[in-house]
Amino acid sequence: MKVYESGKIRNVGIVAHGGAGKTSLTEAFLFNAGVISRLGKVDEGNTTTDYLPEEIKRKITIKMALAPLEWQNSKINFLDTPGYADFIGDVKGTLRVADSLIFTVCAVSGVEVQTQVIWDYAEENNLPRLFYINKMDRENADFSKVLDELQVFTQDNGKRIIPVQIPIGAENSFKGIIDIINLKALLYEEGTGKFQEAPIPTELENDVTTLRLNIIEAAAEGDDDLLIKYLDGAELTTDEIKSGLRNGIITSKVVPVLCGSALKNIGISPILDFIVEYFPSPLDAAVSSEVVDETLAALVFKTLADPYVGKISFLKVFNGTLKPEISVYNSNKENEEKIGQLFTMVGKQQHPVSEIKAGDIVTLTKLQFTATGDTLTNKQNPKQLEGIDFPEPNLPVAIQPKSKGDEDKLGNAIARLLEEDPTLRVKKDLETKETLLIGLGETHLDITLEKLHRKFGVDVEMATPKIPYRETIKVATQKIEGKHKKQSGGHGQYGHVFIDLAPIEEKEFEFEETIFGGSVPKQYIPAVEKGIKEAMTEGIVAGYPVTNVKVTLTDGSYHPVDSSEMAFKIAASLAFRKALEKAKPVLLEPYMQVEVTVPEKFMGDIIGDFNAKRGRILGMEPKGKYQIIRALAPLSEMYKYAIDLKSITQGRGSFTMAFAHYEEVPSVIANKIIEASKVAKTS
Ligand code: GDP
Repeated sequence: MKVYESGKIRNVGIVAHGGAGKTSLTEAFLFNAGVISRLGKVDEGNTTTDYLPEEIKRKITIKMALAPLEWQNSKINFLDTPGYADFIGDVKGTLRVADSLIFTVCAVSGVEVQTQVIWDYAEENNLPRLFYINKMDRENADFSKVLDELQVFTQDNGKRIIPVQIPIGAENSFKGIIDIINLKALLYEEGTGKFQEAPIPTELENDVTTLRLNIIEAAAEGDDDLLIKYLDGAELTTDEIKSGLRNGIITSKVVPVLCGSALKNIGISPILDFIVEYFPSPLDAAVSSEVVDETLAALVFKTLADPYVGKISFLKVFNGTLKPEISVYNSNKENEEKIGQLFTMVGKQQHPVSEIKAGDIVTLTKLQFTATGDTLTNKQNPKQLEGIDFPEPNLPVAIQPKSKGDEDKLGNAIARLLEEDPTLRVKKDLETKETLLIGLGETHLDITLEKLHRKFGVDVEMATPKIPYRETIKVATQKIEGKHKKQSGGHGQYGHVFIDLAPIEEKEFEFEETIFGGSVPKQYIPAVEKGIKEAMTEGIVAGYPVTNVKVTLTDGSYHPVDSSEMAFKIAASLAFRKALEKAKPVLLEPYMQVEVTVPEKFMGDIIGDFNAKRGRILGMEPKGKYQIIRALAPLSEMYKYAIDLKSITQGRGSFTMAFAHYEEVPSVIANKIIEASKVAKTS
């Protein structure tokens, strides 16, 4: 592929709710630019950017894919992104490197939840964007209805939503668009992307006149000189309209609306024209960003673990120029990296490039130390770019390999997957001894297991994680005897203790001795403590560890020949178990401190749900458009909160959760846990 100057580059993220047509649109762009000779279809599993088996099987995008093309001597790097909340990590990476966005909206279903979530992210970065109303060919496609929705949707943002095209026809009879800026009608031949220019249909003339006035007004507002001219009543030239409009778009005050059908390839090439003419190049975007001098600064925004090629890293060169076969410096890892060939990727195809200028996107293979979020730079004058703010996953499952002996293989495979997926975590639960895989949602976890199978040949079982219950006592008990005596023939065993047992709050365990006159000789006292500690690992209620107890060794006796450490250990554990029985033992469960962030309208439902989960609300406070709710709730009810919250808020909530403390399990629930532990023991 050619080398492009910064001003000739457009980095455009294609974002939306799943199913709006992002992948189909990307495919249509590639086809119209001549990069591919056949228009693939999502439903046939042959698109350029949804090439993973997991994507083809589900007909959804699960990772960002790059689709660069040349249009009017410019290079447009399209970044096709996933639309489902489980894969928002790649959307975050894309938003970090895109200089503009296409929000794809379905002409039938309009604005959907995930679109709102991504819109909020785009607002945080003030990214220039356009709305593309797709699927104009579908039954019930309604341009004006969706346009009204867009106006409502963005009303808090103080933006102008300006149609720069309108459709000619709809549903089956959708046949083209009117370009309101250039006052042209374009009539399409279905599928091929070929069109003819035609006069504006008379019945649409009035609409076009009104909409053009809107554009002119928006253009005038985009430039002070034009505004004065406009307010003086002078007519703006087409060039002036265009430059004012471009300013409005680049500063993100104006959001233009375009339309078409990706599936039928109608109205697609005018979007490419529009991007080249009105969307920012990295130079425009750099006004407020990181460009300072010629030092190399490139950010890794995505990593893929390819079973054949190995590790593939996607970078945006924010500054300087990247050349092949050189040594660069990773300023995050403080390590040098050798880089080999430079590639650009079209879907899964790699194409070598000789160099990459500031603003462009490149892929490198087999980097040794470098991970997503790292900066590659010069060692002499190192830069560090701001990383990517990935969401923290919080849906855990316990995993283990199906065949014993695959543990090491699983460990290695997971390490590779963690490299490509910054929204995945693996953790060993020291108490339950389980390996937990933590993801953003059920589909995310399912797909992770599928990848483990396909890429690394490891089959994994998934289960609900065990809850680390504990046991404690409610009352104190005194003078409990434990005696271990075996004196039949030969060397015997003799250990004998009396202990007091009491509940304590501050500590998990405390041991004291008040032995008087050597009834238990000094050298055996540590063995008594050890025996109790061992007995504490398995309580008598349901076999969970015992906590928050104080044991006092008060008395005992010994035998000059038969006593031993072992005998006192056993005596102590016998005494301890007996004492537990008398001290009203109970089951404890972990309680979590939870912080939920949701749009205000969901607050009532969130609180109701916490009540149903035996939770307690600790407080609430507003944060912008959102409300933060702090609560305490038992872990046993919260393992799947990621799923519950998604369904309560249609994906618009987020939460964090951390262990708070242990609380007693209500007896009805405790009985079930005790039953389950008996079943587990006998099976
Ligand atoms: P994405 O999830 O946003 O990438 O959407 P896809 O490109 O995967 O499309 C989702 C579904 O909508 C697929 O069945 C596509 O064939 C269909 N689709 C996409 N664009 C159009 C369109 O313009 N018209 C019609 N009728 N269907 C479309």
